[in-house]
Amino acid sequence: MDNLNNLSLYKAKLFDSICMLDKKNLPLSEWIKEWISIFTSVYEVYEFALYERNDYGYSQMMTSNNEEGRLDHLLTVAEVEGIFNNNPYYFVENIQHYSSGFCFSLDSEYPSYILFCNFTSQYSEGNPKSTLDILQTTEYFLQKSMAVQRALSEDDRYRELYKVTEVFHSSMDMDVLLSEVIQTLRKVFPDYTYFLYLANDPHEYVDLPIKNFDYDQASQAAMETFVSGEITIEQGCNEVLKNLYAPLKGKQGVYGILRVATNATFHFPDGDKEFIKLLAYTAGSALENAKLYQQSKRLVSDLQLINETSHKLNSNLRLSETLTFLNRQIQKSMDATEIGFVFFTEGLHPYSILPGSSEFFHTHLGKSYIEFALTRINNEKDALFIGDMEGKREDLHEYRSLMTVPMVQNSDVIGFCIVLQSLPYAFSFDMYKLLQSFIHHSTLALTNSMLREKLEEMVITDHLTKLYSRNHLDEFISRSMLEDEKGCLVLVDIDNFKRVNDTYGHQVGDEVIVQVANLMSSTSKGKGLAARWGGEELAIYFPHLSIGEAEPYVESIINDCPLATNPKVTLSAGVSSWKKGFMYTEDSLFHKADTALYEAKRTGKNKYVKDSSLESVL
Ligand code: GH3
Ligand code: MG
Ligand code: MG
Repeated sequence: MDNLNNLSLYKAKLFDSICMLDKKNLPLSEWIKEWISIFTSVYEVYEFALYERNDYGYSQMMTSNNEEGRLDHLLTVAEVEGIFNNNPYYFVENIQHYSSGFCFSLDSEYPSYILFCNFTSQYSEGNPKSTLDILQTTEYFLQKSMAVQRALSEDDRYRELYKVTEVFHSSMDMDVLLSEVIQTLRKVFPDYTYFLYLANDPHEYVDLPIKNFDYDQASQAAMETFVSGEITIEQGCNEVLKNLYAPLKGKQGVYGILRVATNATFHFPDGDKEFIKLLAYTAGSALENAKLYQQSKRLVSDLQLINETSHKLNSNLRLSETLTFLNRQIQKSMDATEIGFVFFTEGLHPYSILPGSSEFFHTHLGKSYIEFALTRINNEKDALFIGDMEGKREDLHEYRSLMTVPMVQNSDVIGFCIVLQSLPYAFSFDMYKLLQSFIHHSTLALTNSMLREKLEEMVITDHLTKLYSRNHLDEFISRSMLEDEKGCLVLVDIDNFKRVNDTYGHQVGDEVIVQVANLMSSTSKGKGLAARWGGEELAIYFPHLSIGEAEPYVESIINDCPLATNPKVTLSAGVSSWKKGFMYTEDSLFHKADTALYEAKRTGKNKYVKDSSLESVL
């Protein structure tokens, strides 16, 4: 076969292959294999070395018919570059152990090379034009293969970007978003190493290479990216280590940076840079969305909480109930471990711990925390927000996060709320603001409750029910015990009253208390003294009556109550009495009535129970 026919055959075969390979979307390695098989079959050149250059460096490939499948004289890239630098010809003959070689260009700025062992210009009968033709055909084929390969991998990359964008749009979960970014990068560029540095993100990510962006430790290039929002590349201390920093940027700012590290010798290819930049930008907007979403969700729920709290506080709760409620709200919204309410007092002790505070504050350690806060508040006259107590005071290491908010009334600090958590940085700034809001809204209600309770002790009639106050009842009984022969005490508690409050609200609850009070005072009129014992507990004291004599009144109150109330409620009552000549104190009278009341509750409610110890005496 003559050489010109060879060339036609070579071209025809390559052309067929292009059609076939192109259709199948095969990767570069398949194209090169195909070329090798065509080239060797047409020109019977079995030994050659291919130095193919792509974005990441040279890859060397060779065919050989020696036994080990290796060329005996494989030149290094540097050597080959040297040869073609000195002989900048397209086709060079007699290169050391090779008969010829040619330098061609695929699609990068660097040349690629093929060296042949037994391919000389004699194939083209000394016709340089024909040699050129062979080489150009080869170059065309390889260029084509590179283009297909590039399109293929671009295609893959953008398919990944598309997939990841879809995830970004479908999730508001930061963990999911960030792990998707890392996974995509690892899939597309497995040879790089990745780190994400997030600004203002105290969250710990266990399985992901995600860290908090540390402004003090960040390298200059990282800082530059963070500030300018542009990609920067940093040459590490030794020649080969390189870092690329891409900003995670949204519309409102930079949320962190992505660091891509490599210790390869090439420069970051432009295609890679572009892809990483796009992915980082997409991730930045997704992060921004997720953050805004979380923020707005948090704001909405904070507002709901504040609203609910104000509502509750305005409904005339007792002090201990107000504080218990507040404690629950704080615990719920900030995941706090210990919550204390401290009021300043004027007596010997500088403060008192209010009911509704966690038990912890009555312990020695709890008081140390209170005293720590007290000193700071006295000095600074402001709220405290401490992320890490470590090093602040030696004995206070059990709880690392601390917040206190003073209660201010008429510009005087009257006390404070203290909140603790064992982990450092457990409270966010949003939580701190929420706590301030809670305390701000409730201080007035708290002092009102305190004043009301103090006042209640002082006046003899209860303002709601117009019954006598407990204070007055106490005095009345002690006088009766001195002057009379006998007497009988009935303690009444409304059954399941919480349910009434919960279902109809406190105002309706109050009305029901008034209805029961009216029933009790009208039933006992002229015979006994009805009083408000406290809350939804009422009492009647019958001077001059024994249990048996008082029983009809008690019975009628219990029976009539559902008819006299709307919404209907039932009552439980405990009855006790005393008689002259027996050792009865006022306290034991109350205690026995209370025990009997408890028994009535325990055994089914809507009934009364008589103190049995008394019956045996009488
Ligand atoms: P039980 O049958 O065991 O007595 O159930 P209960 O739901 O009545 O339970 P408990 O006695 O412990 O609850 C009393 C509730 O009464 C709690 C409190 O919210 C409510 N309460 C106390 N004082 C007042 C008040 O002055 N007005 C209103 N509306 N509710 C009050
Ligand atoms: Mg009760
Ligand atoms: Mg009750």
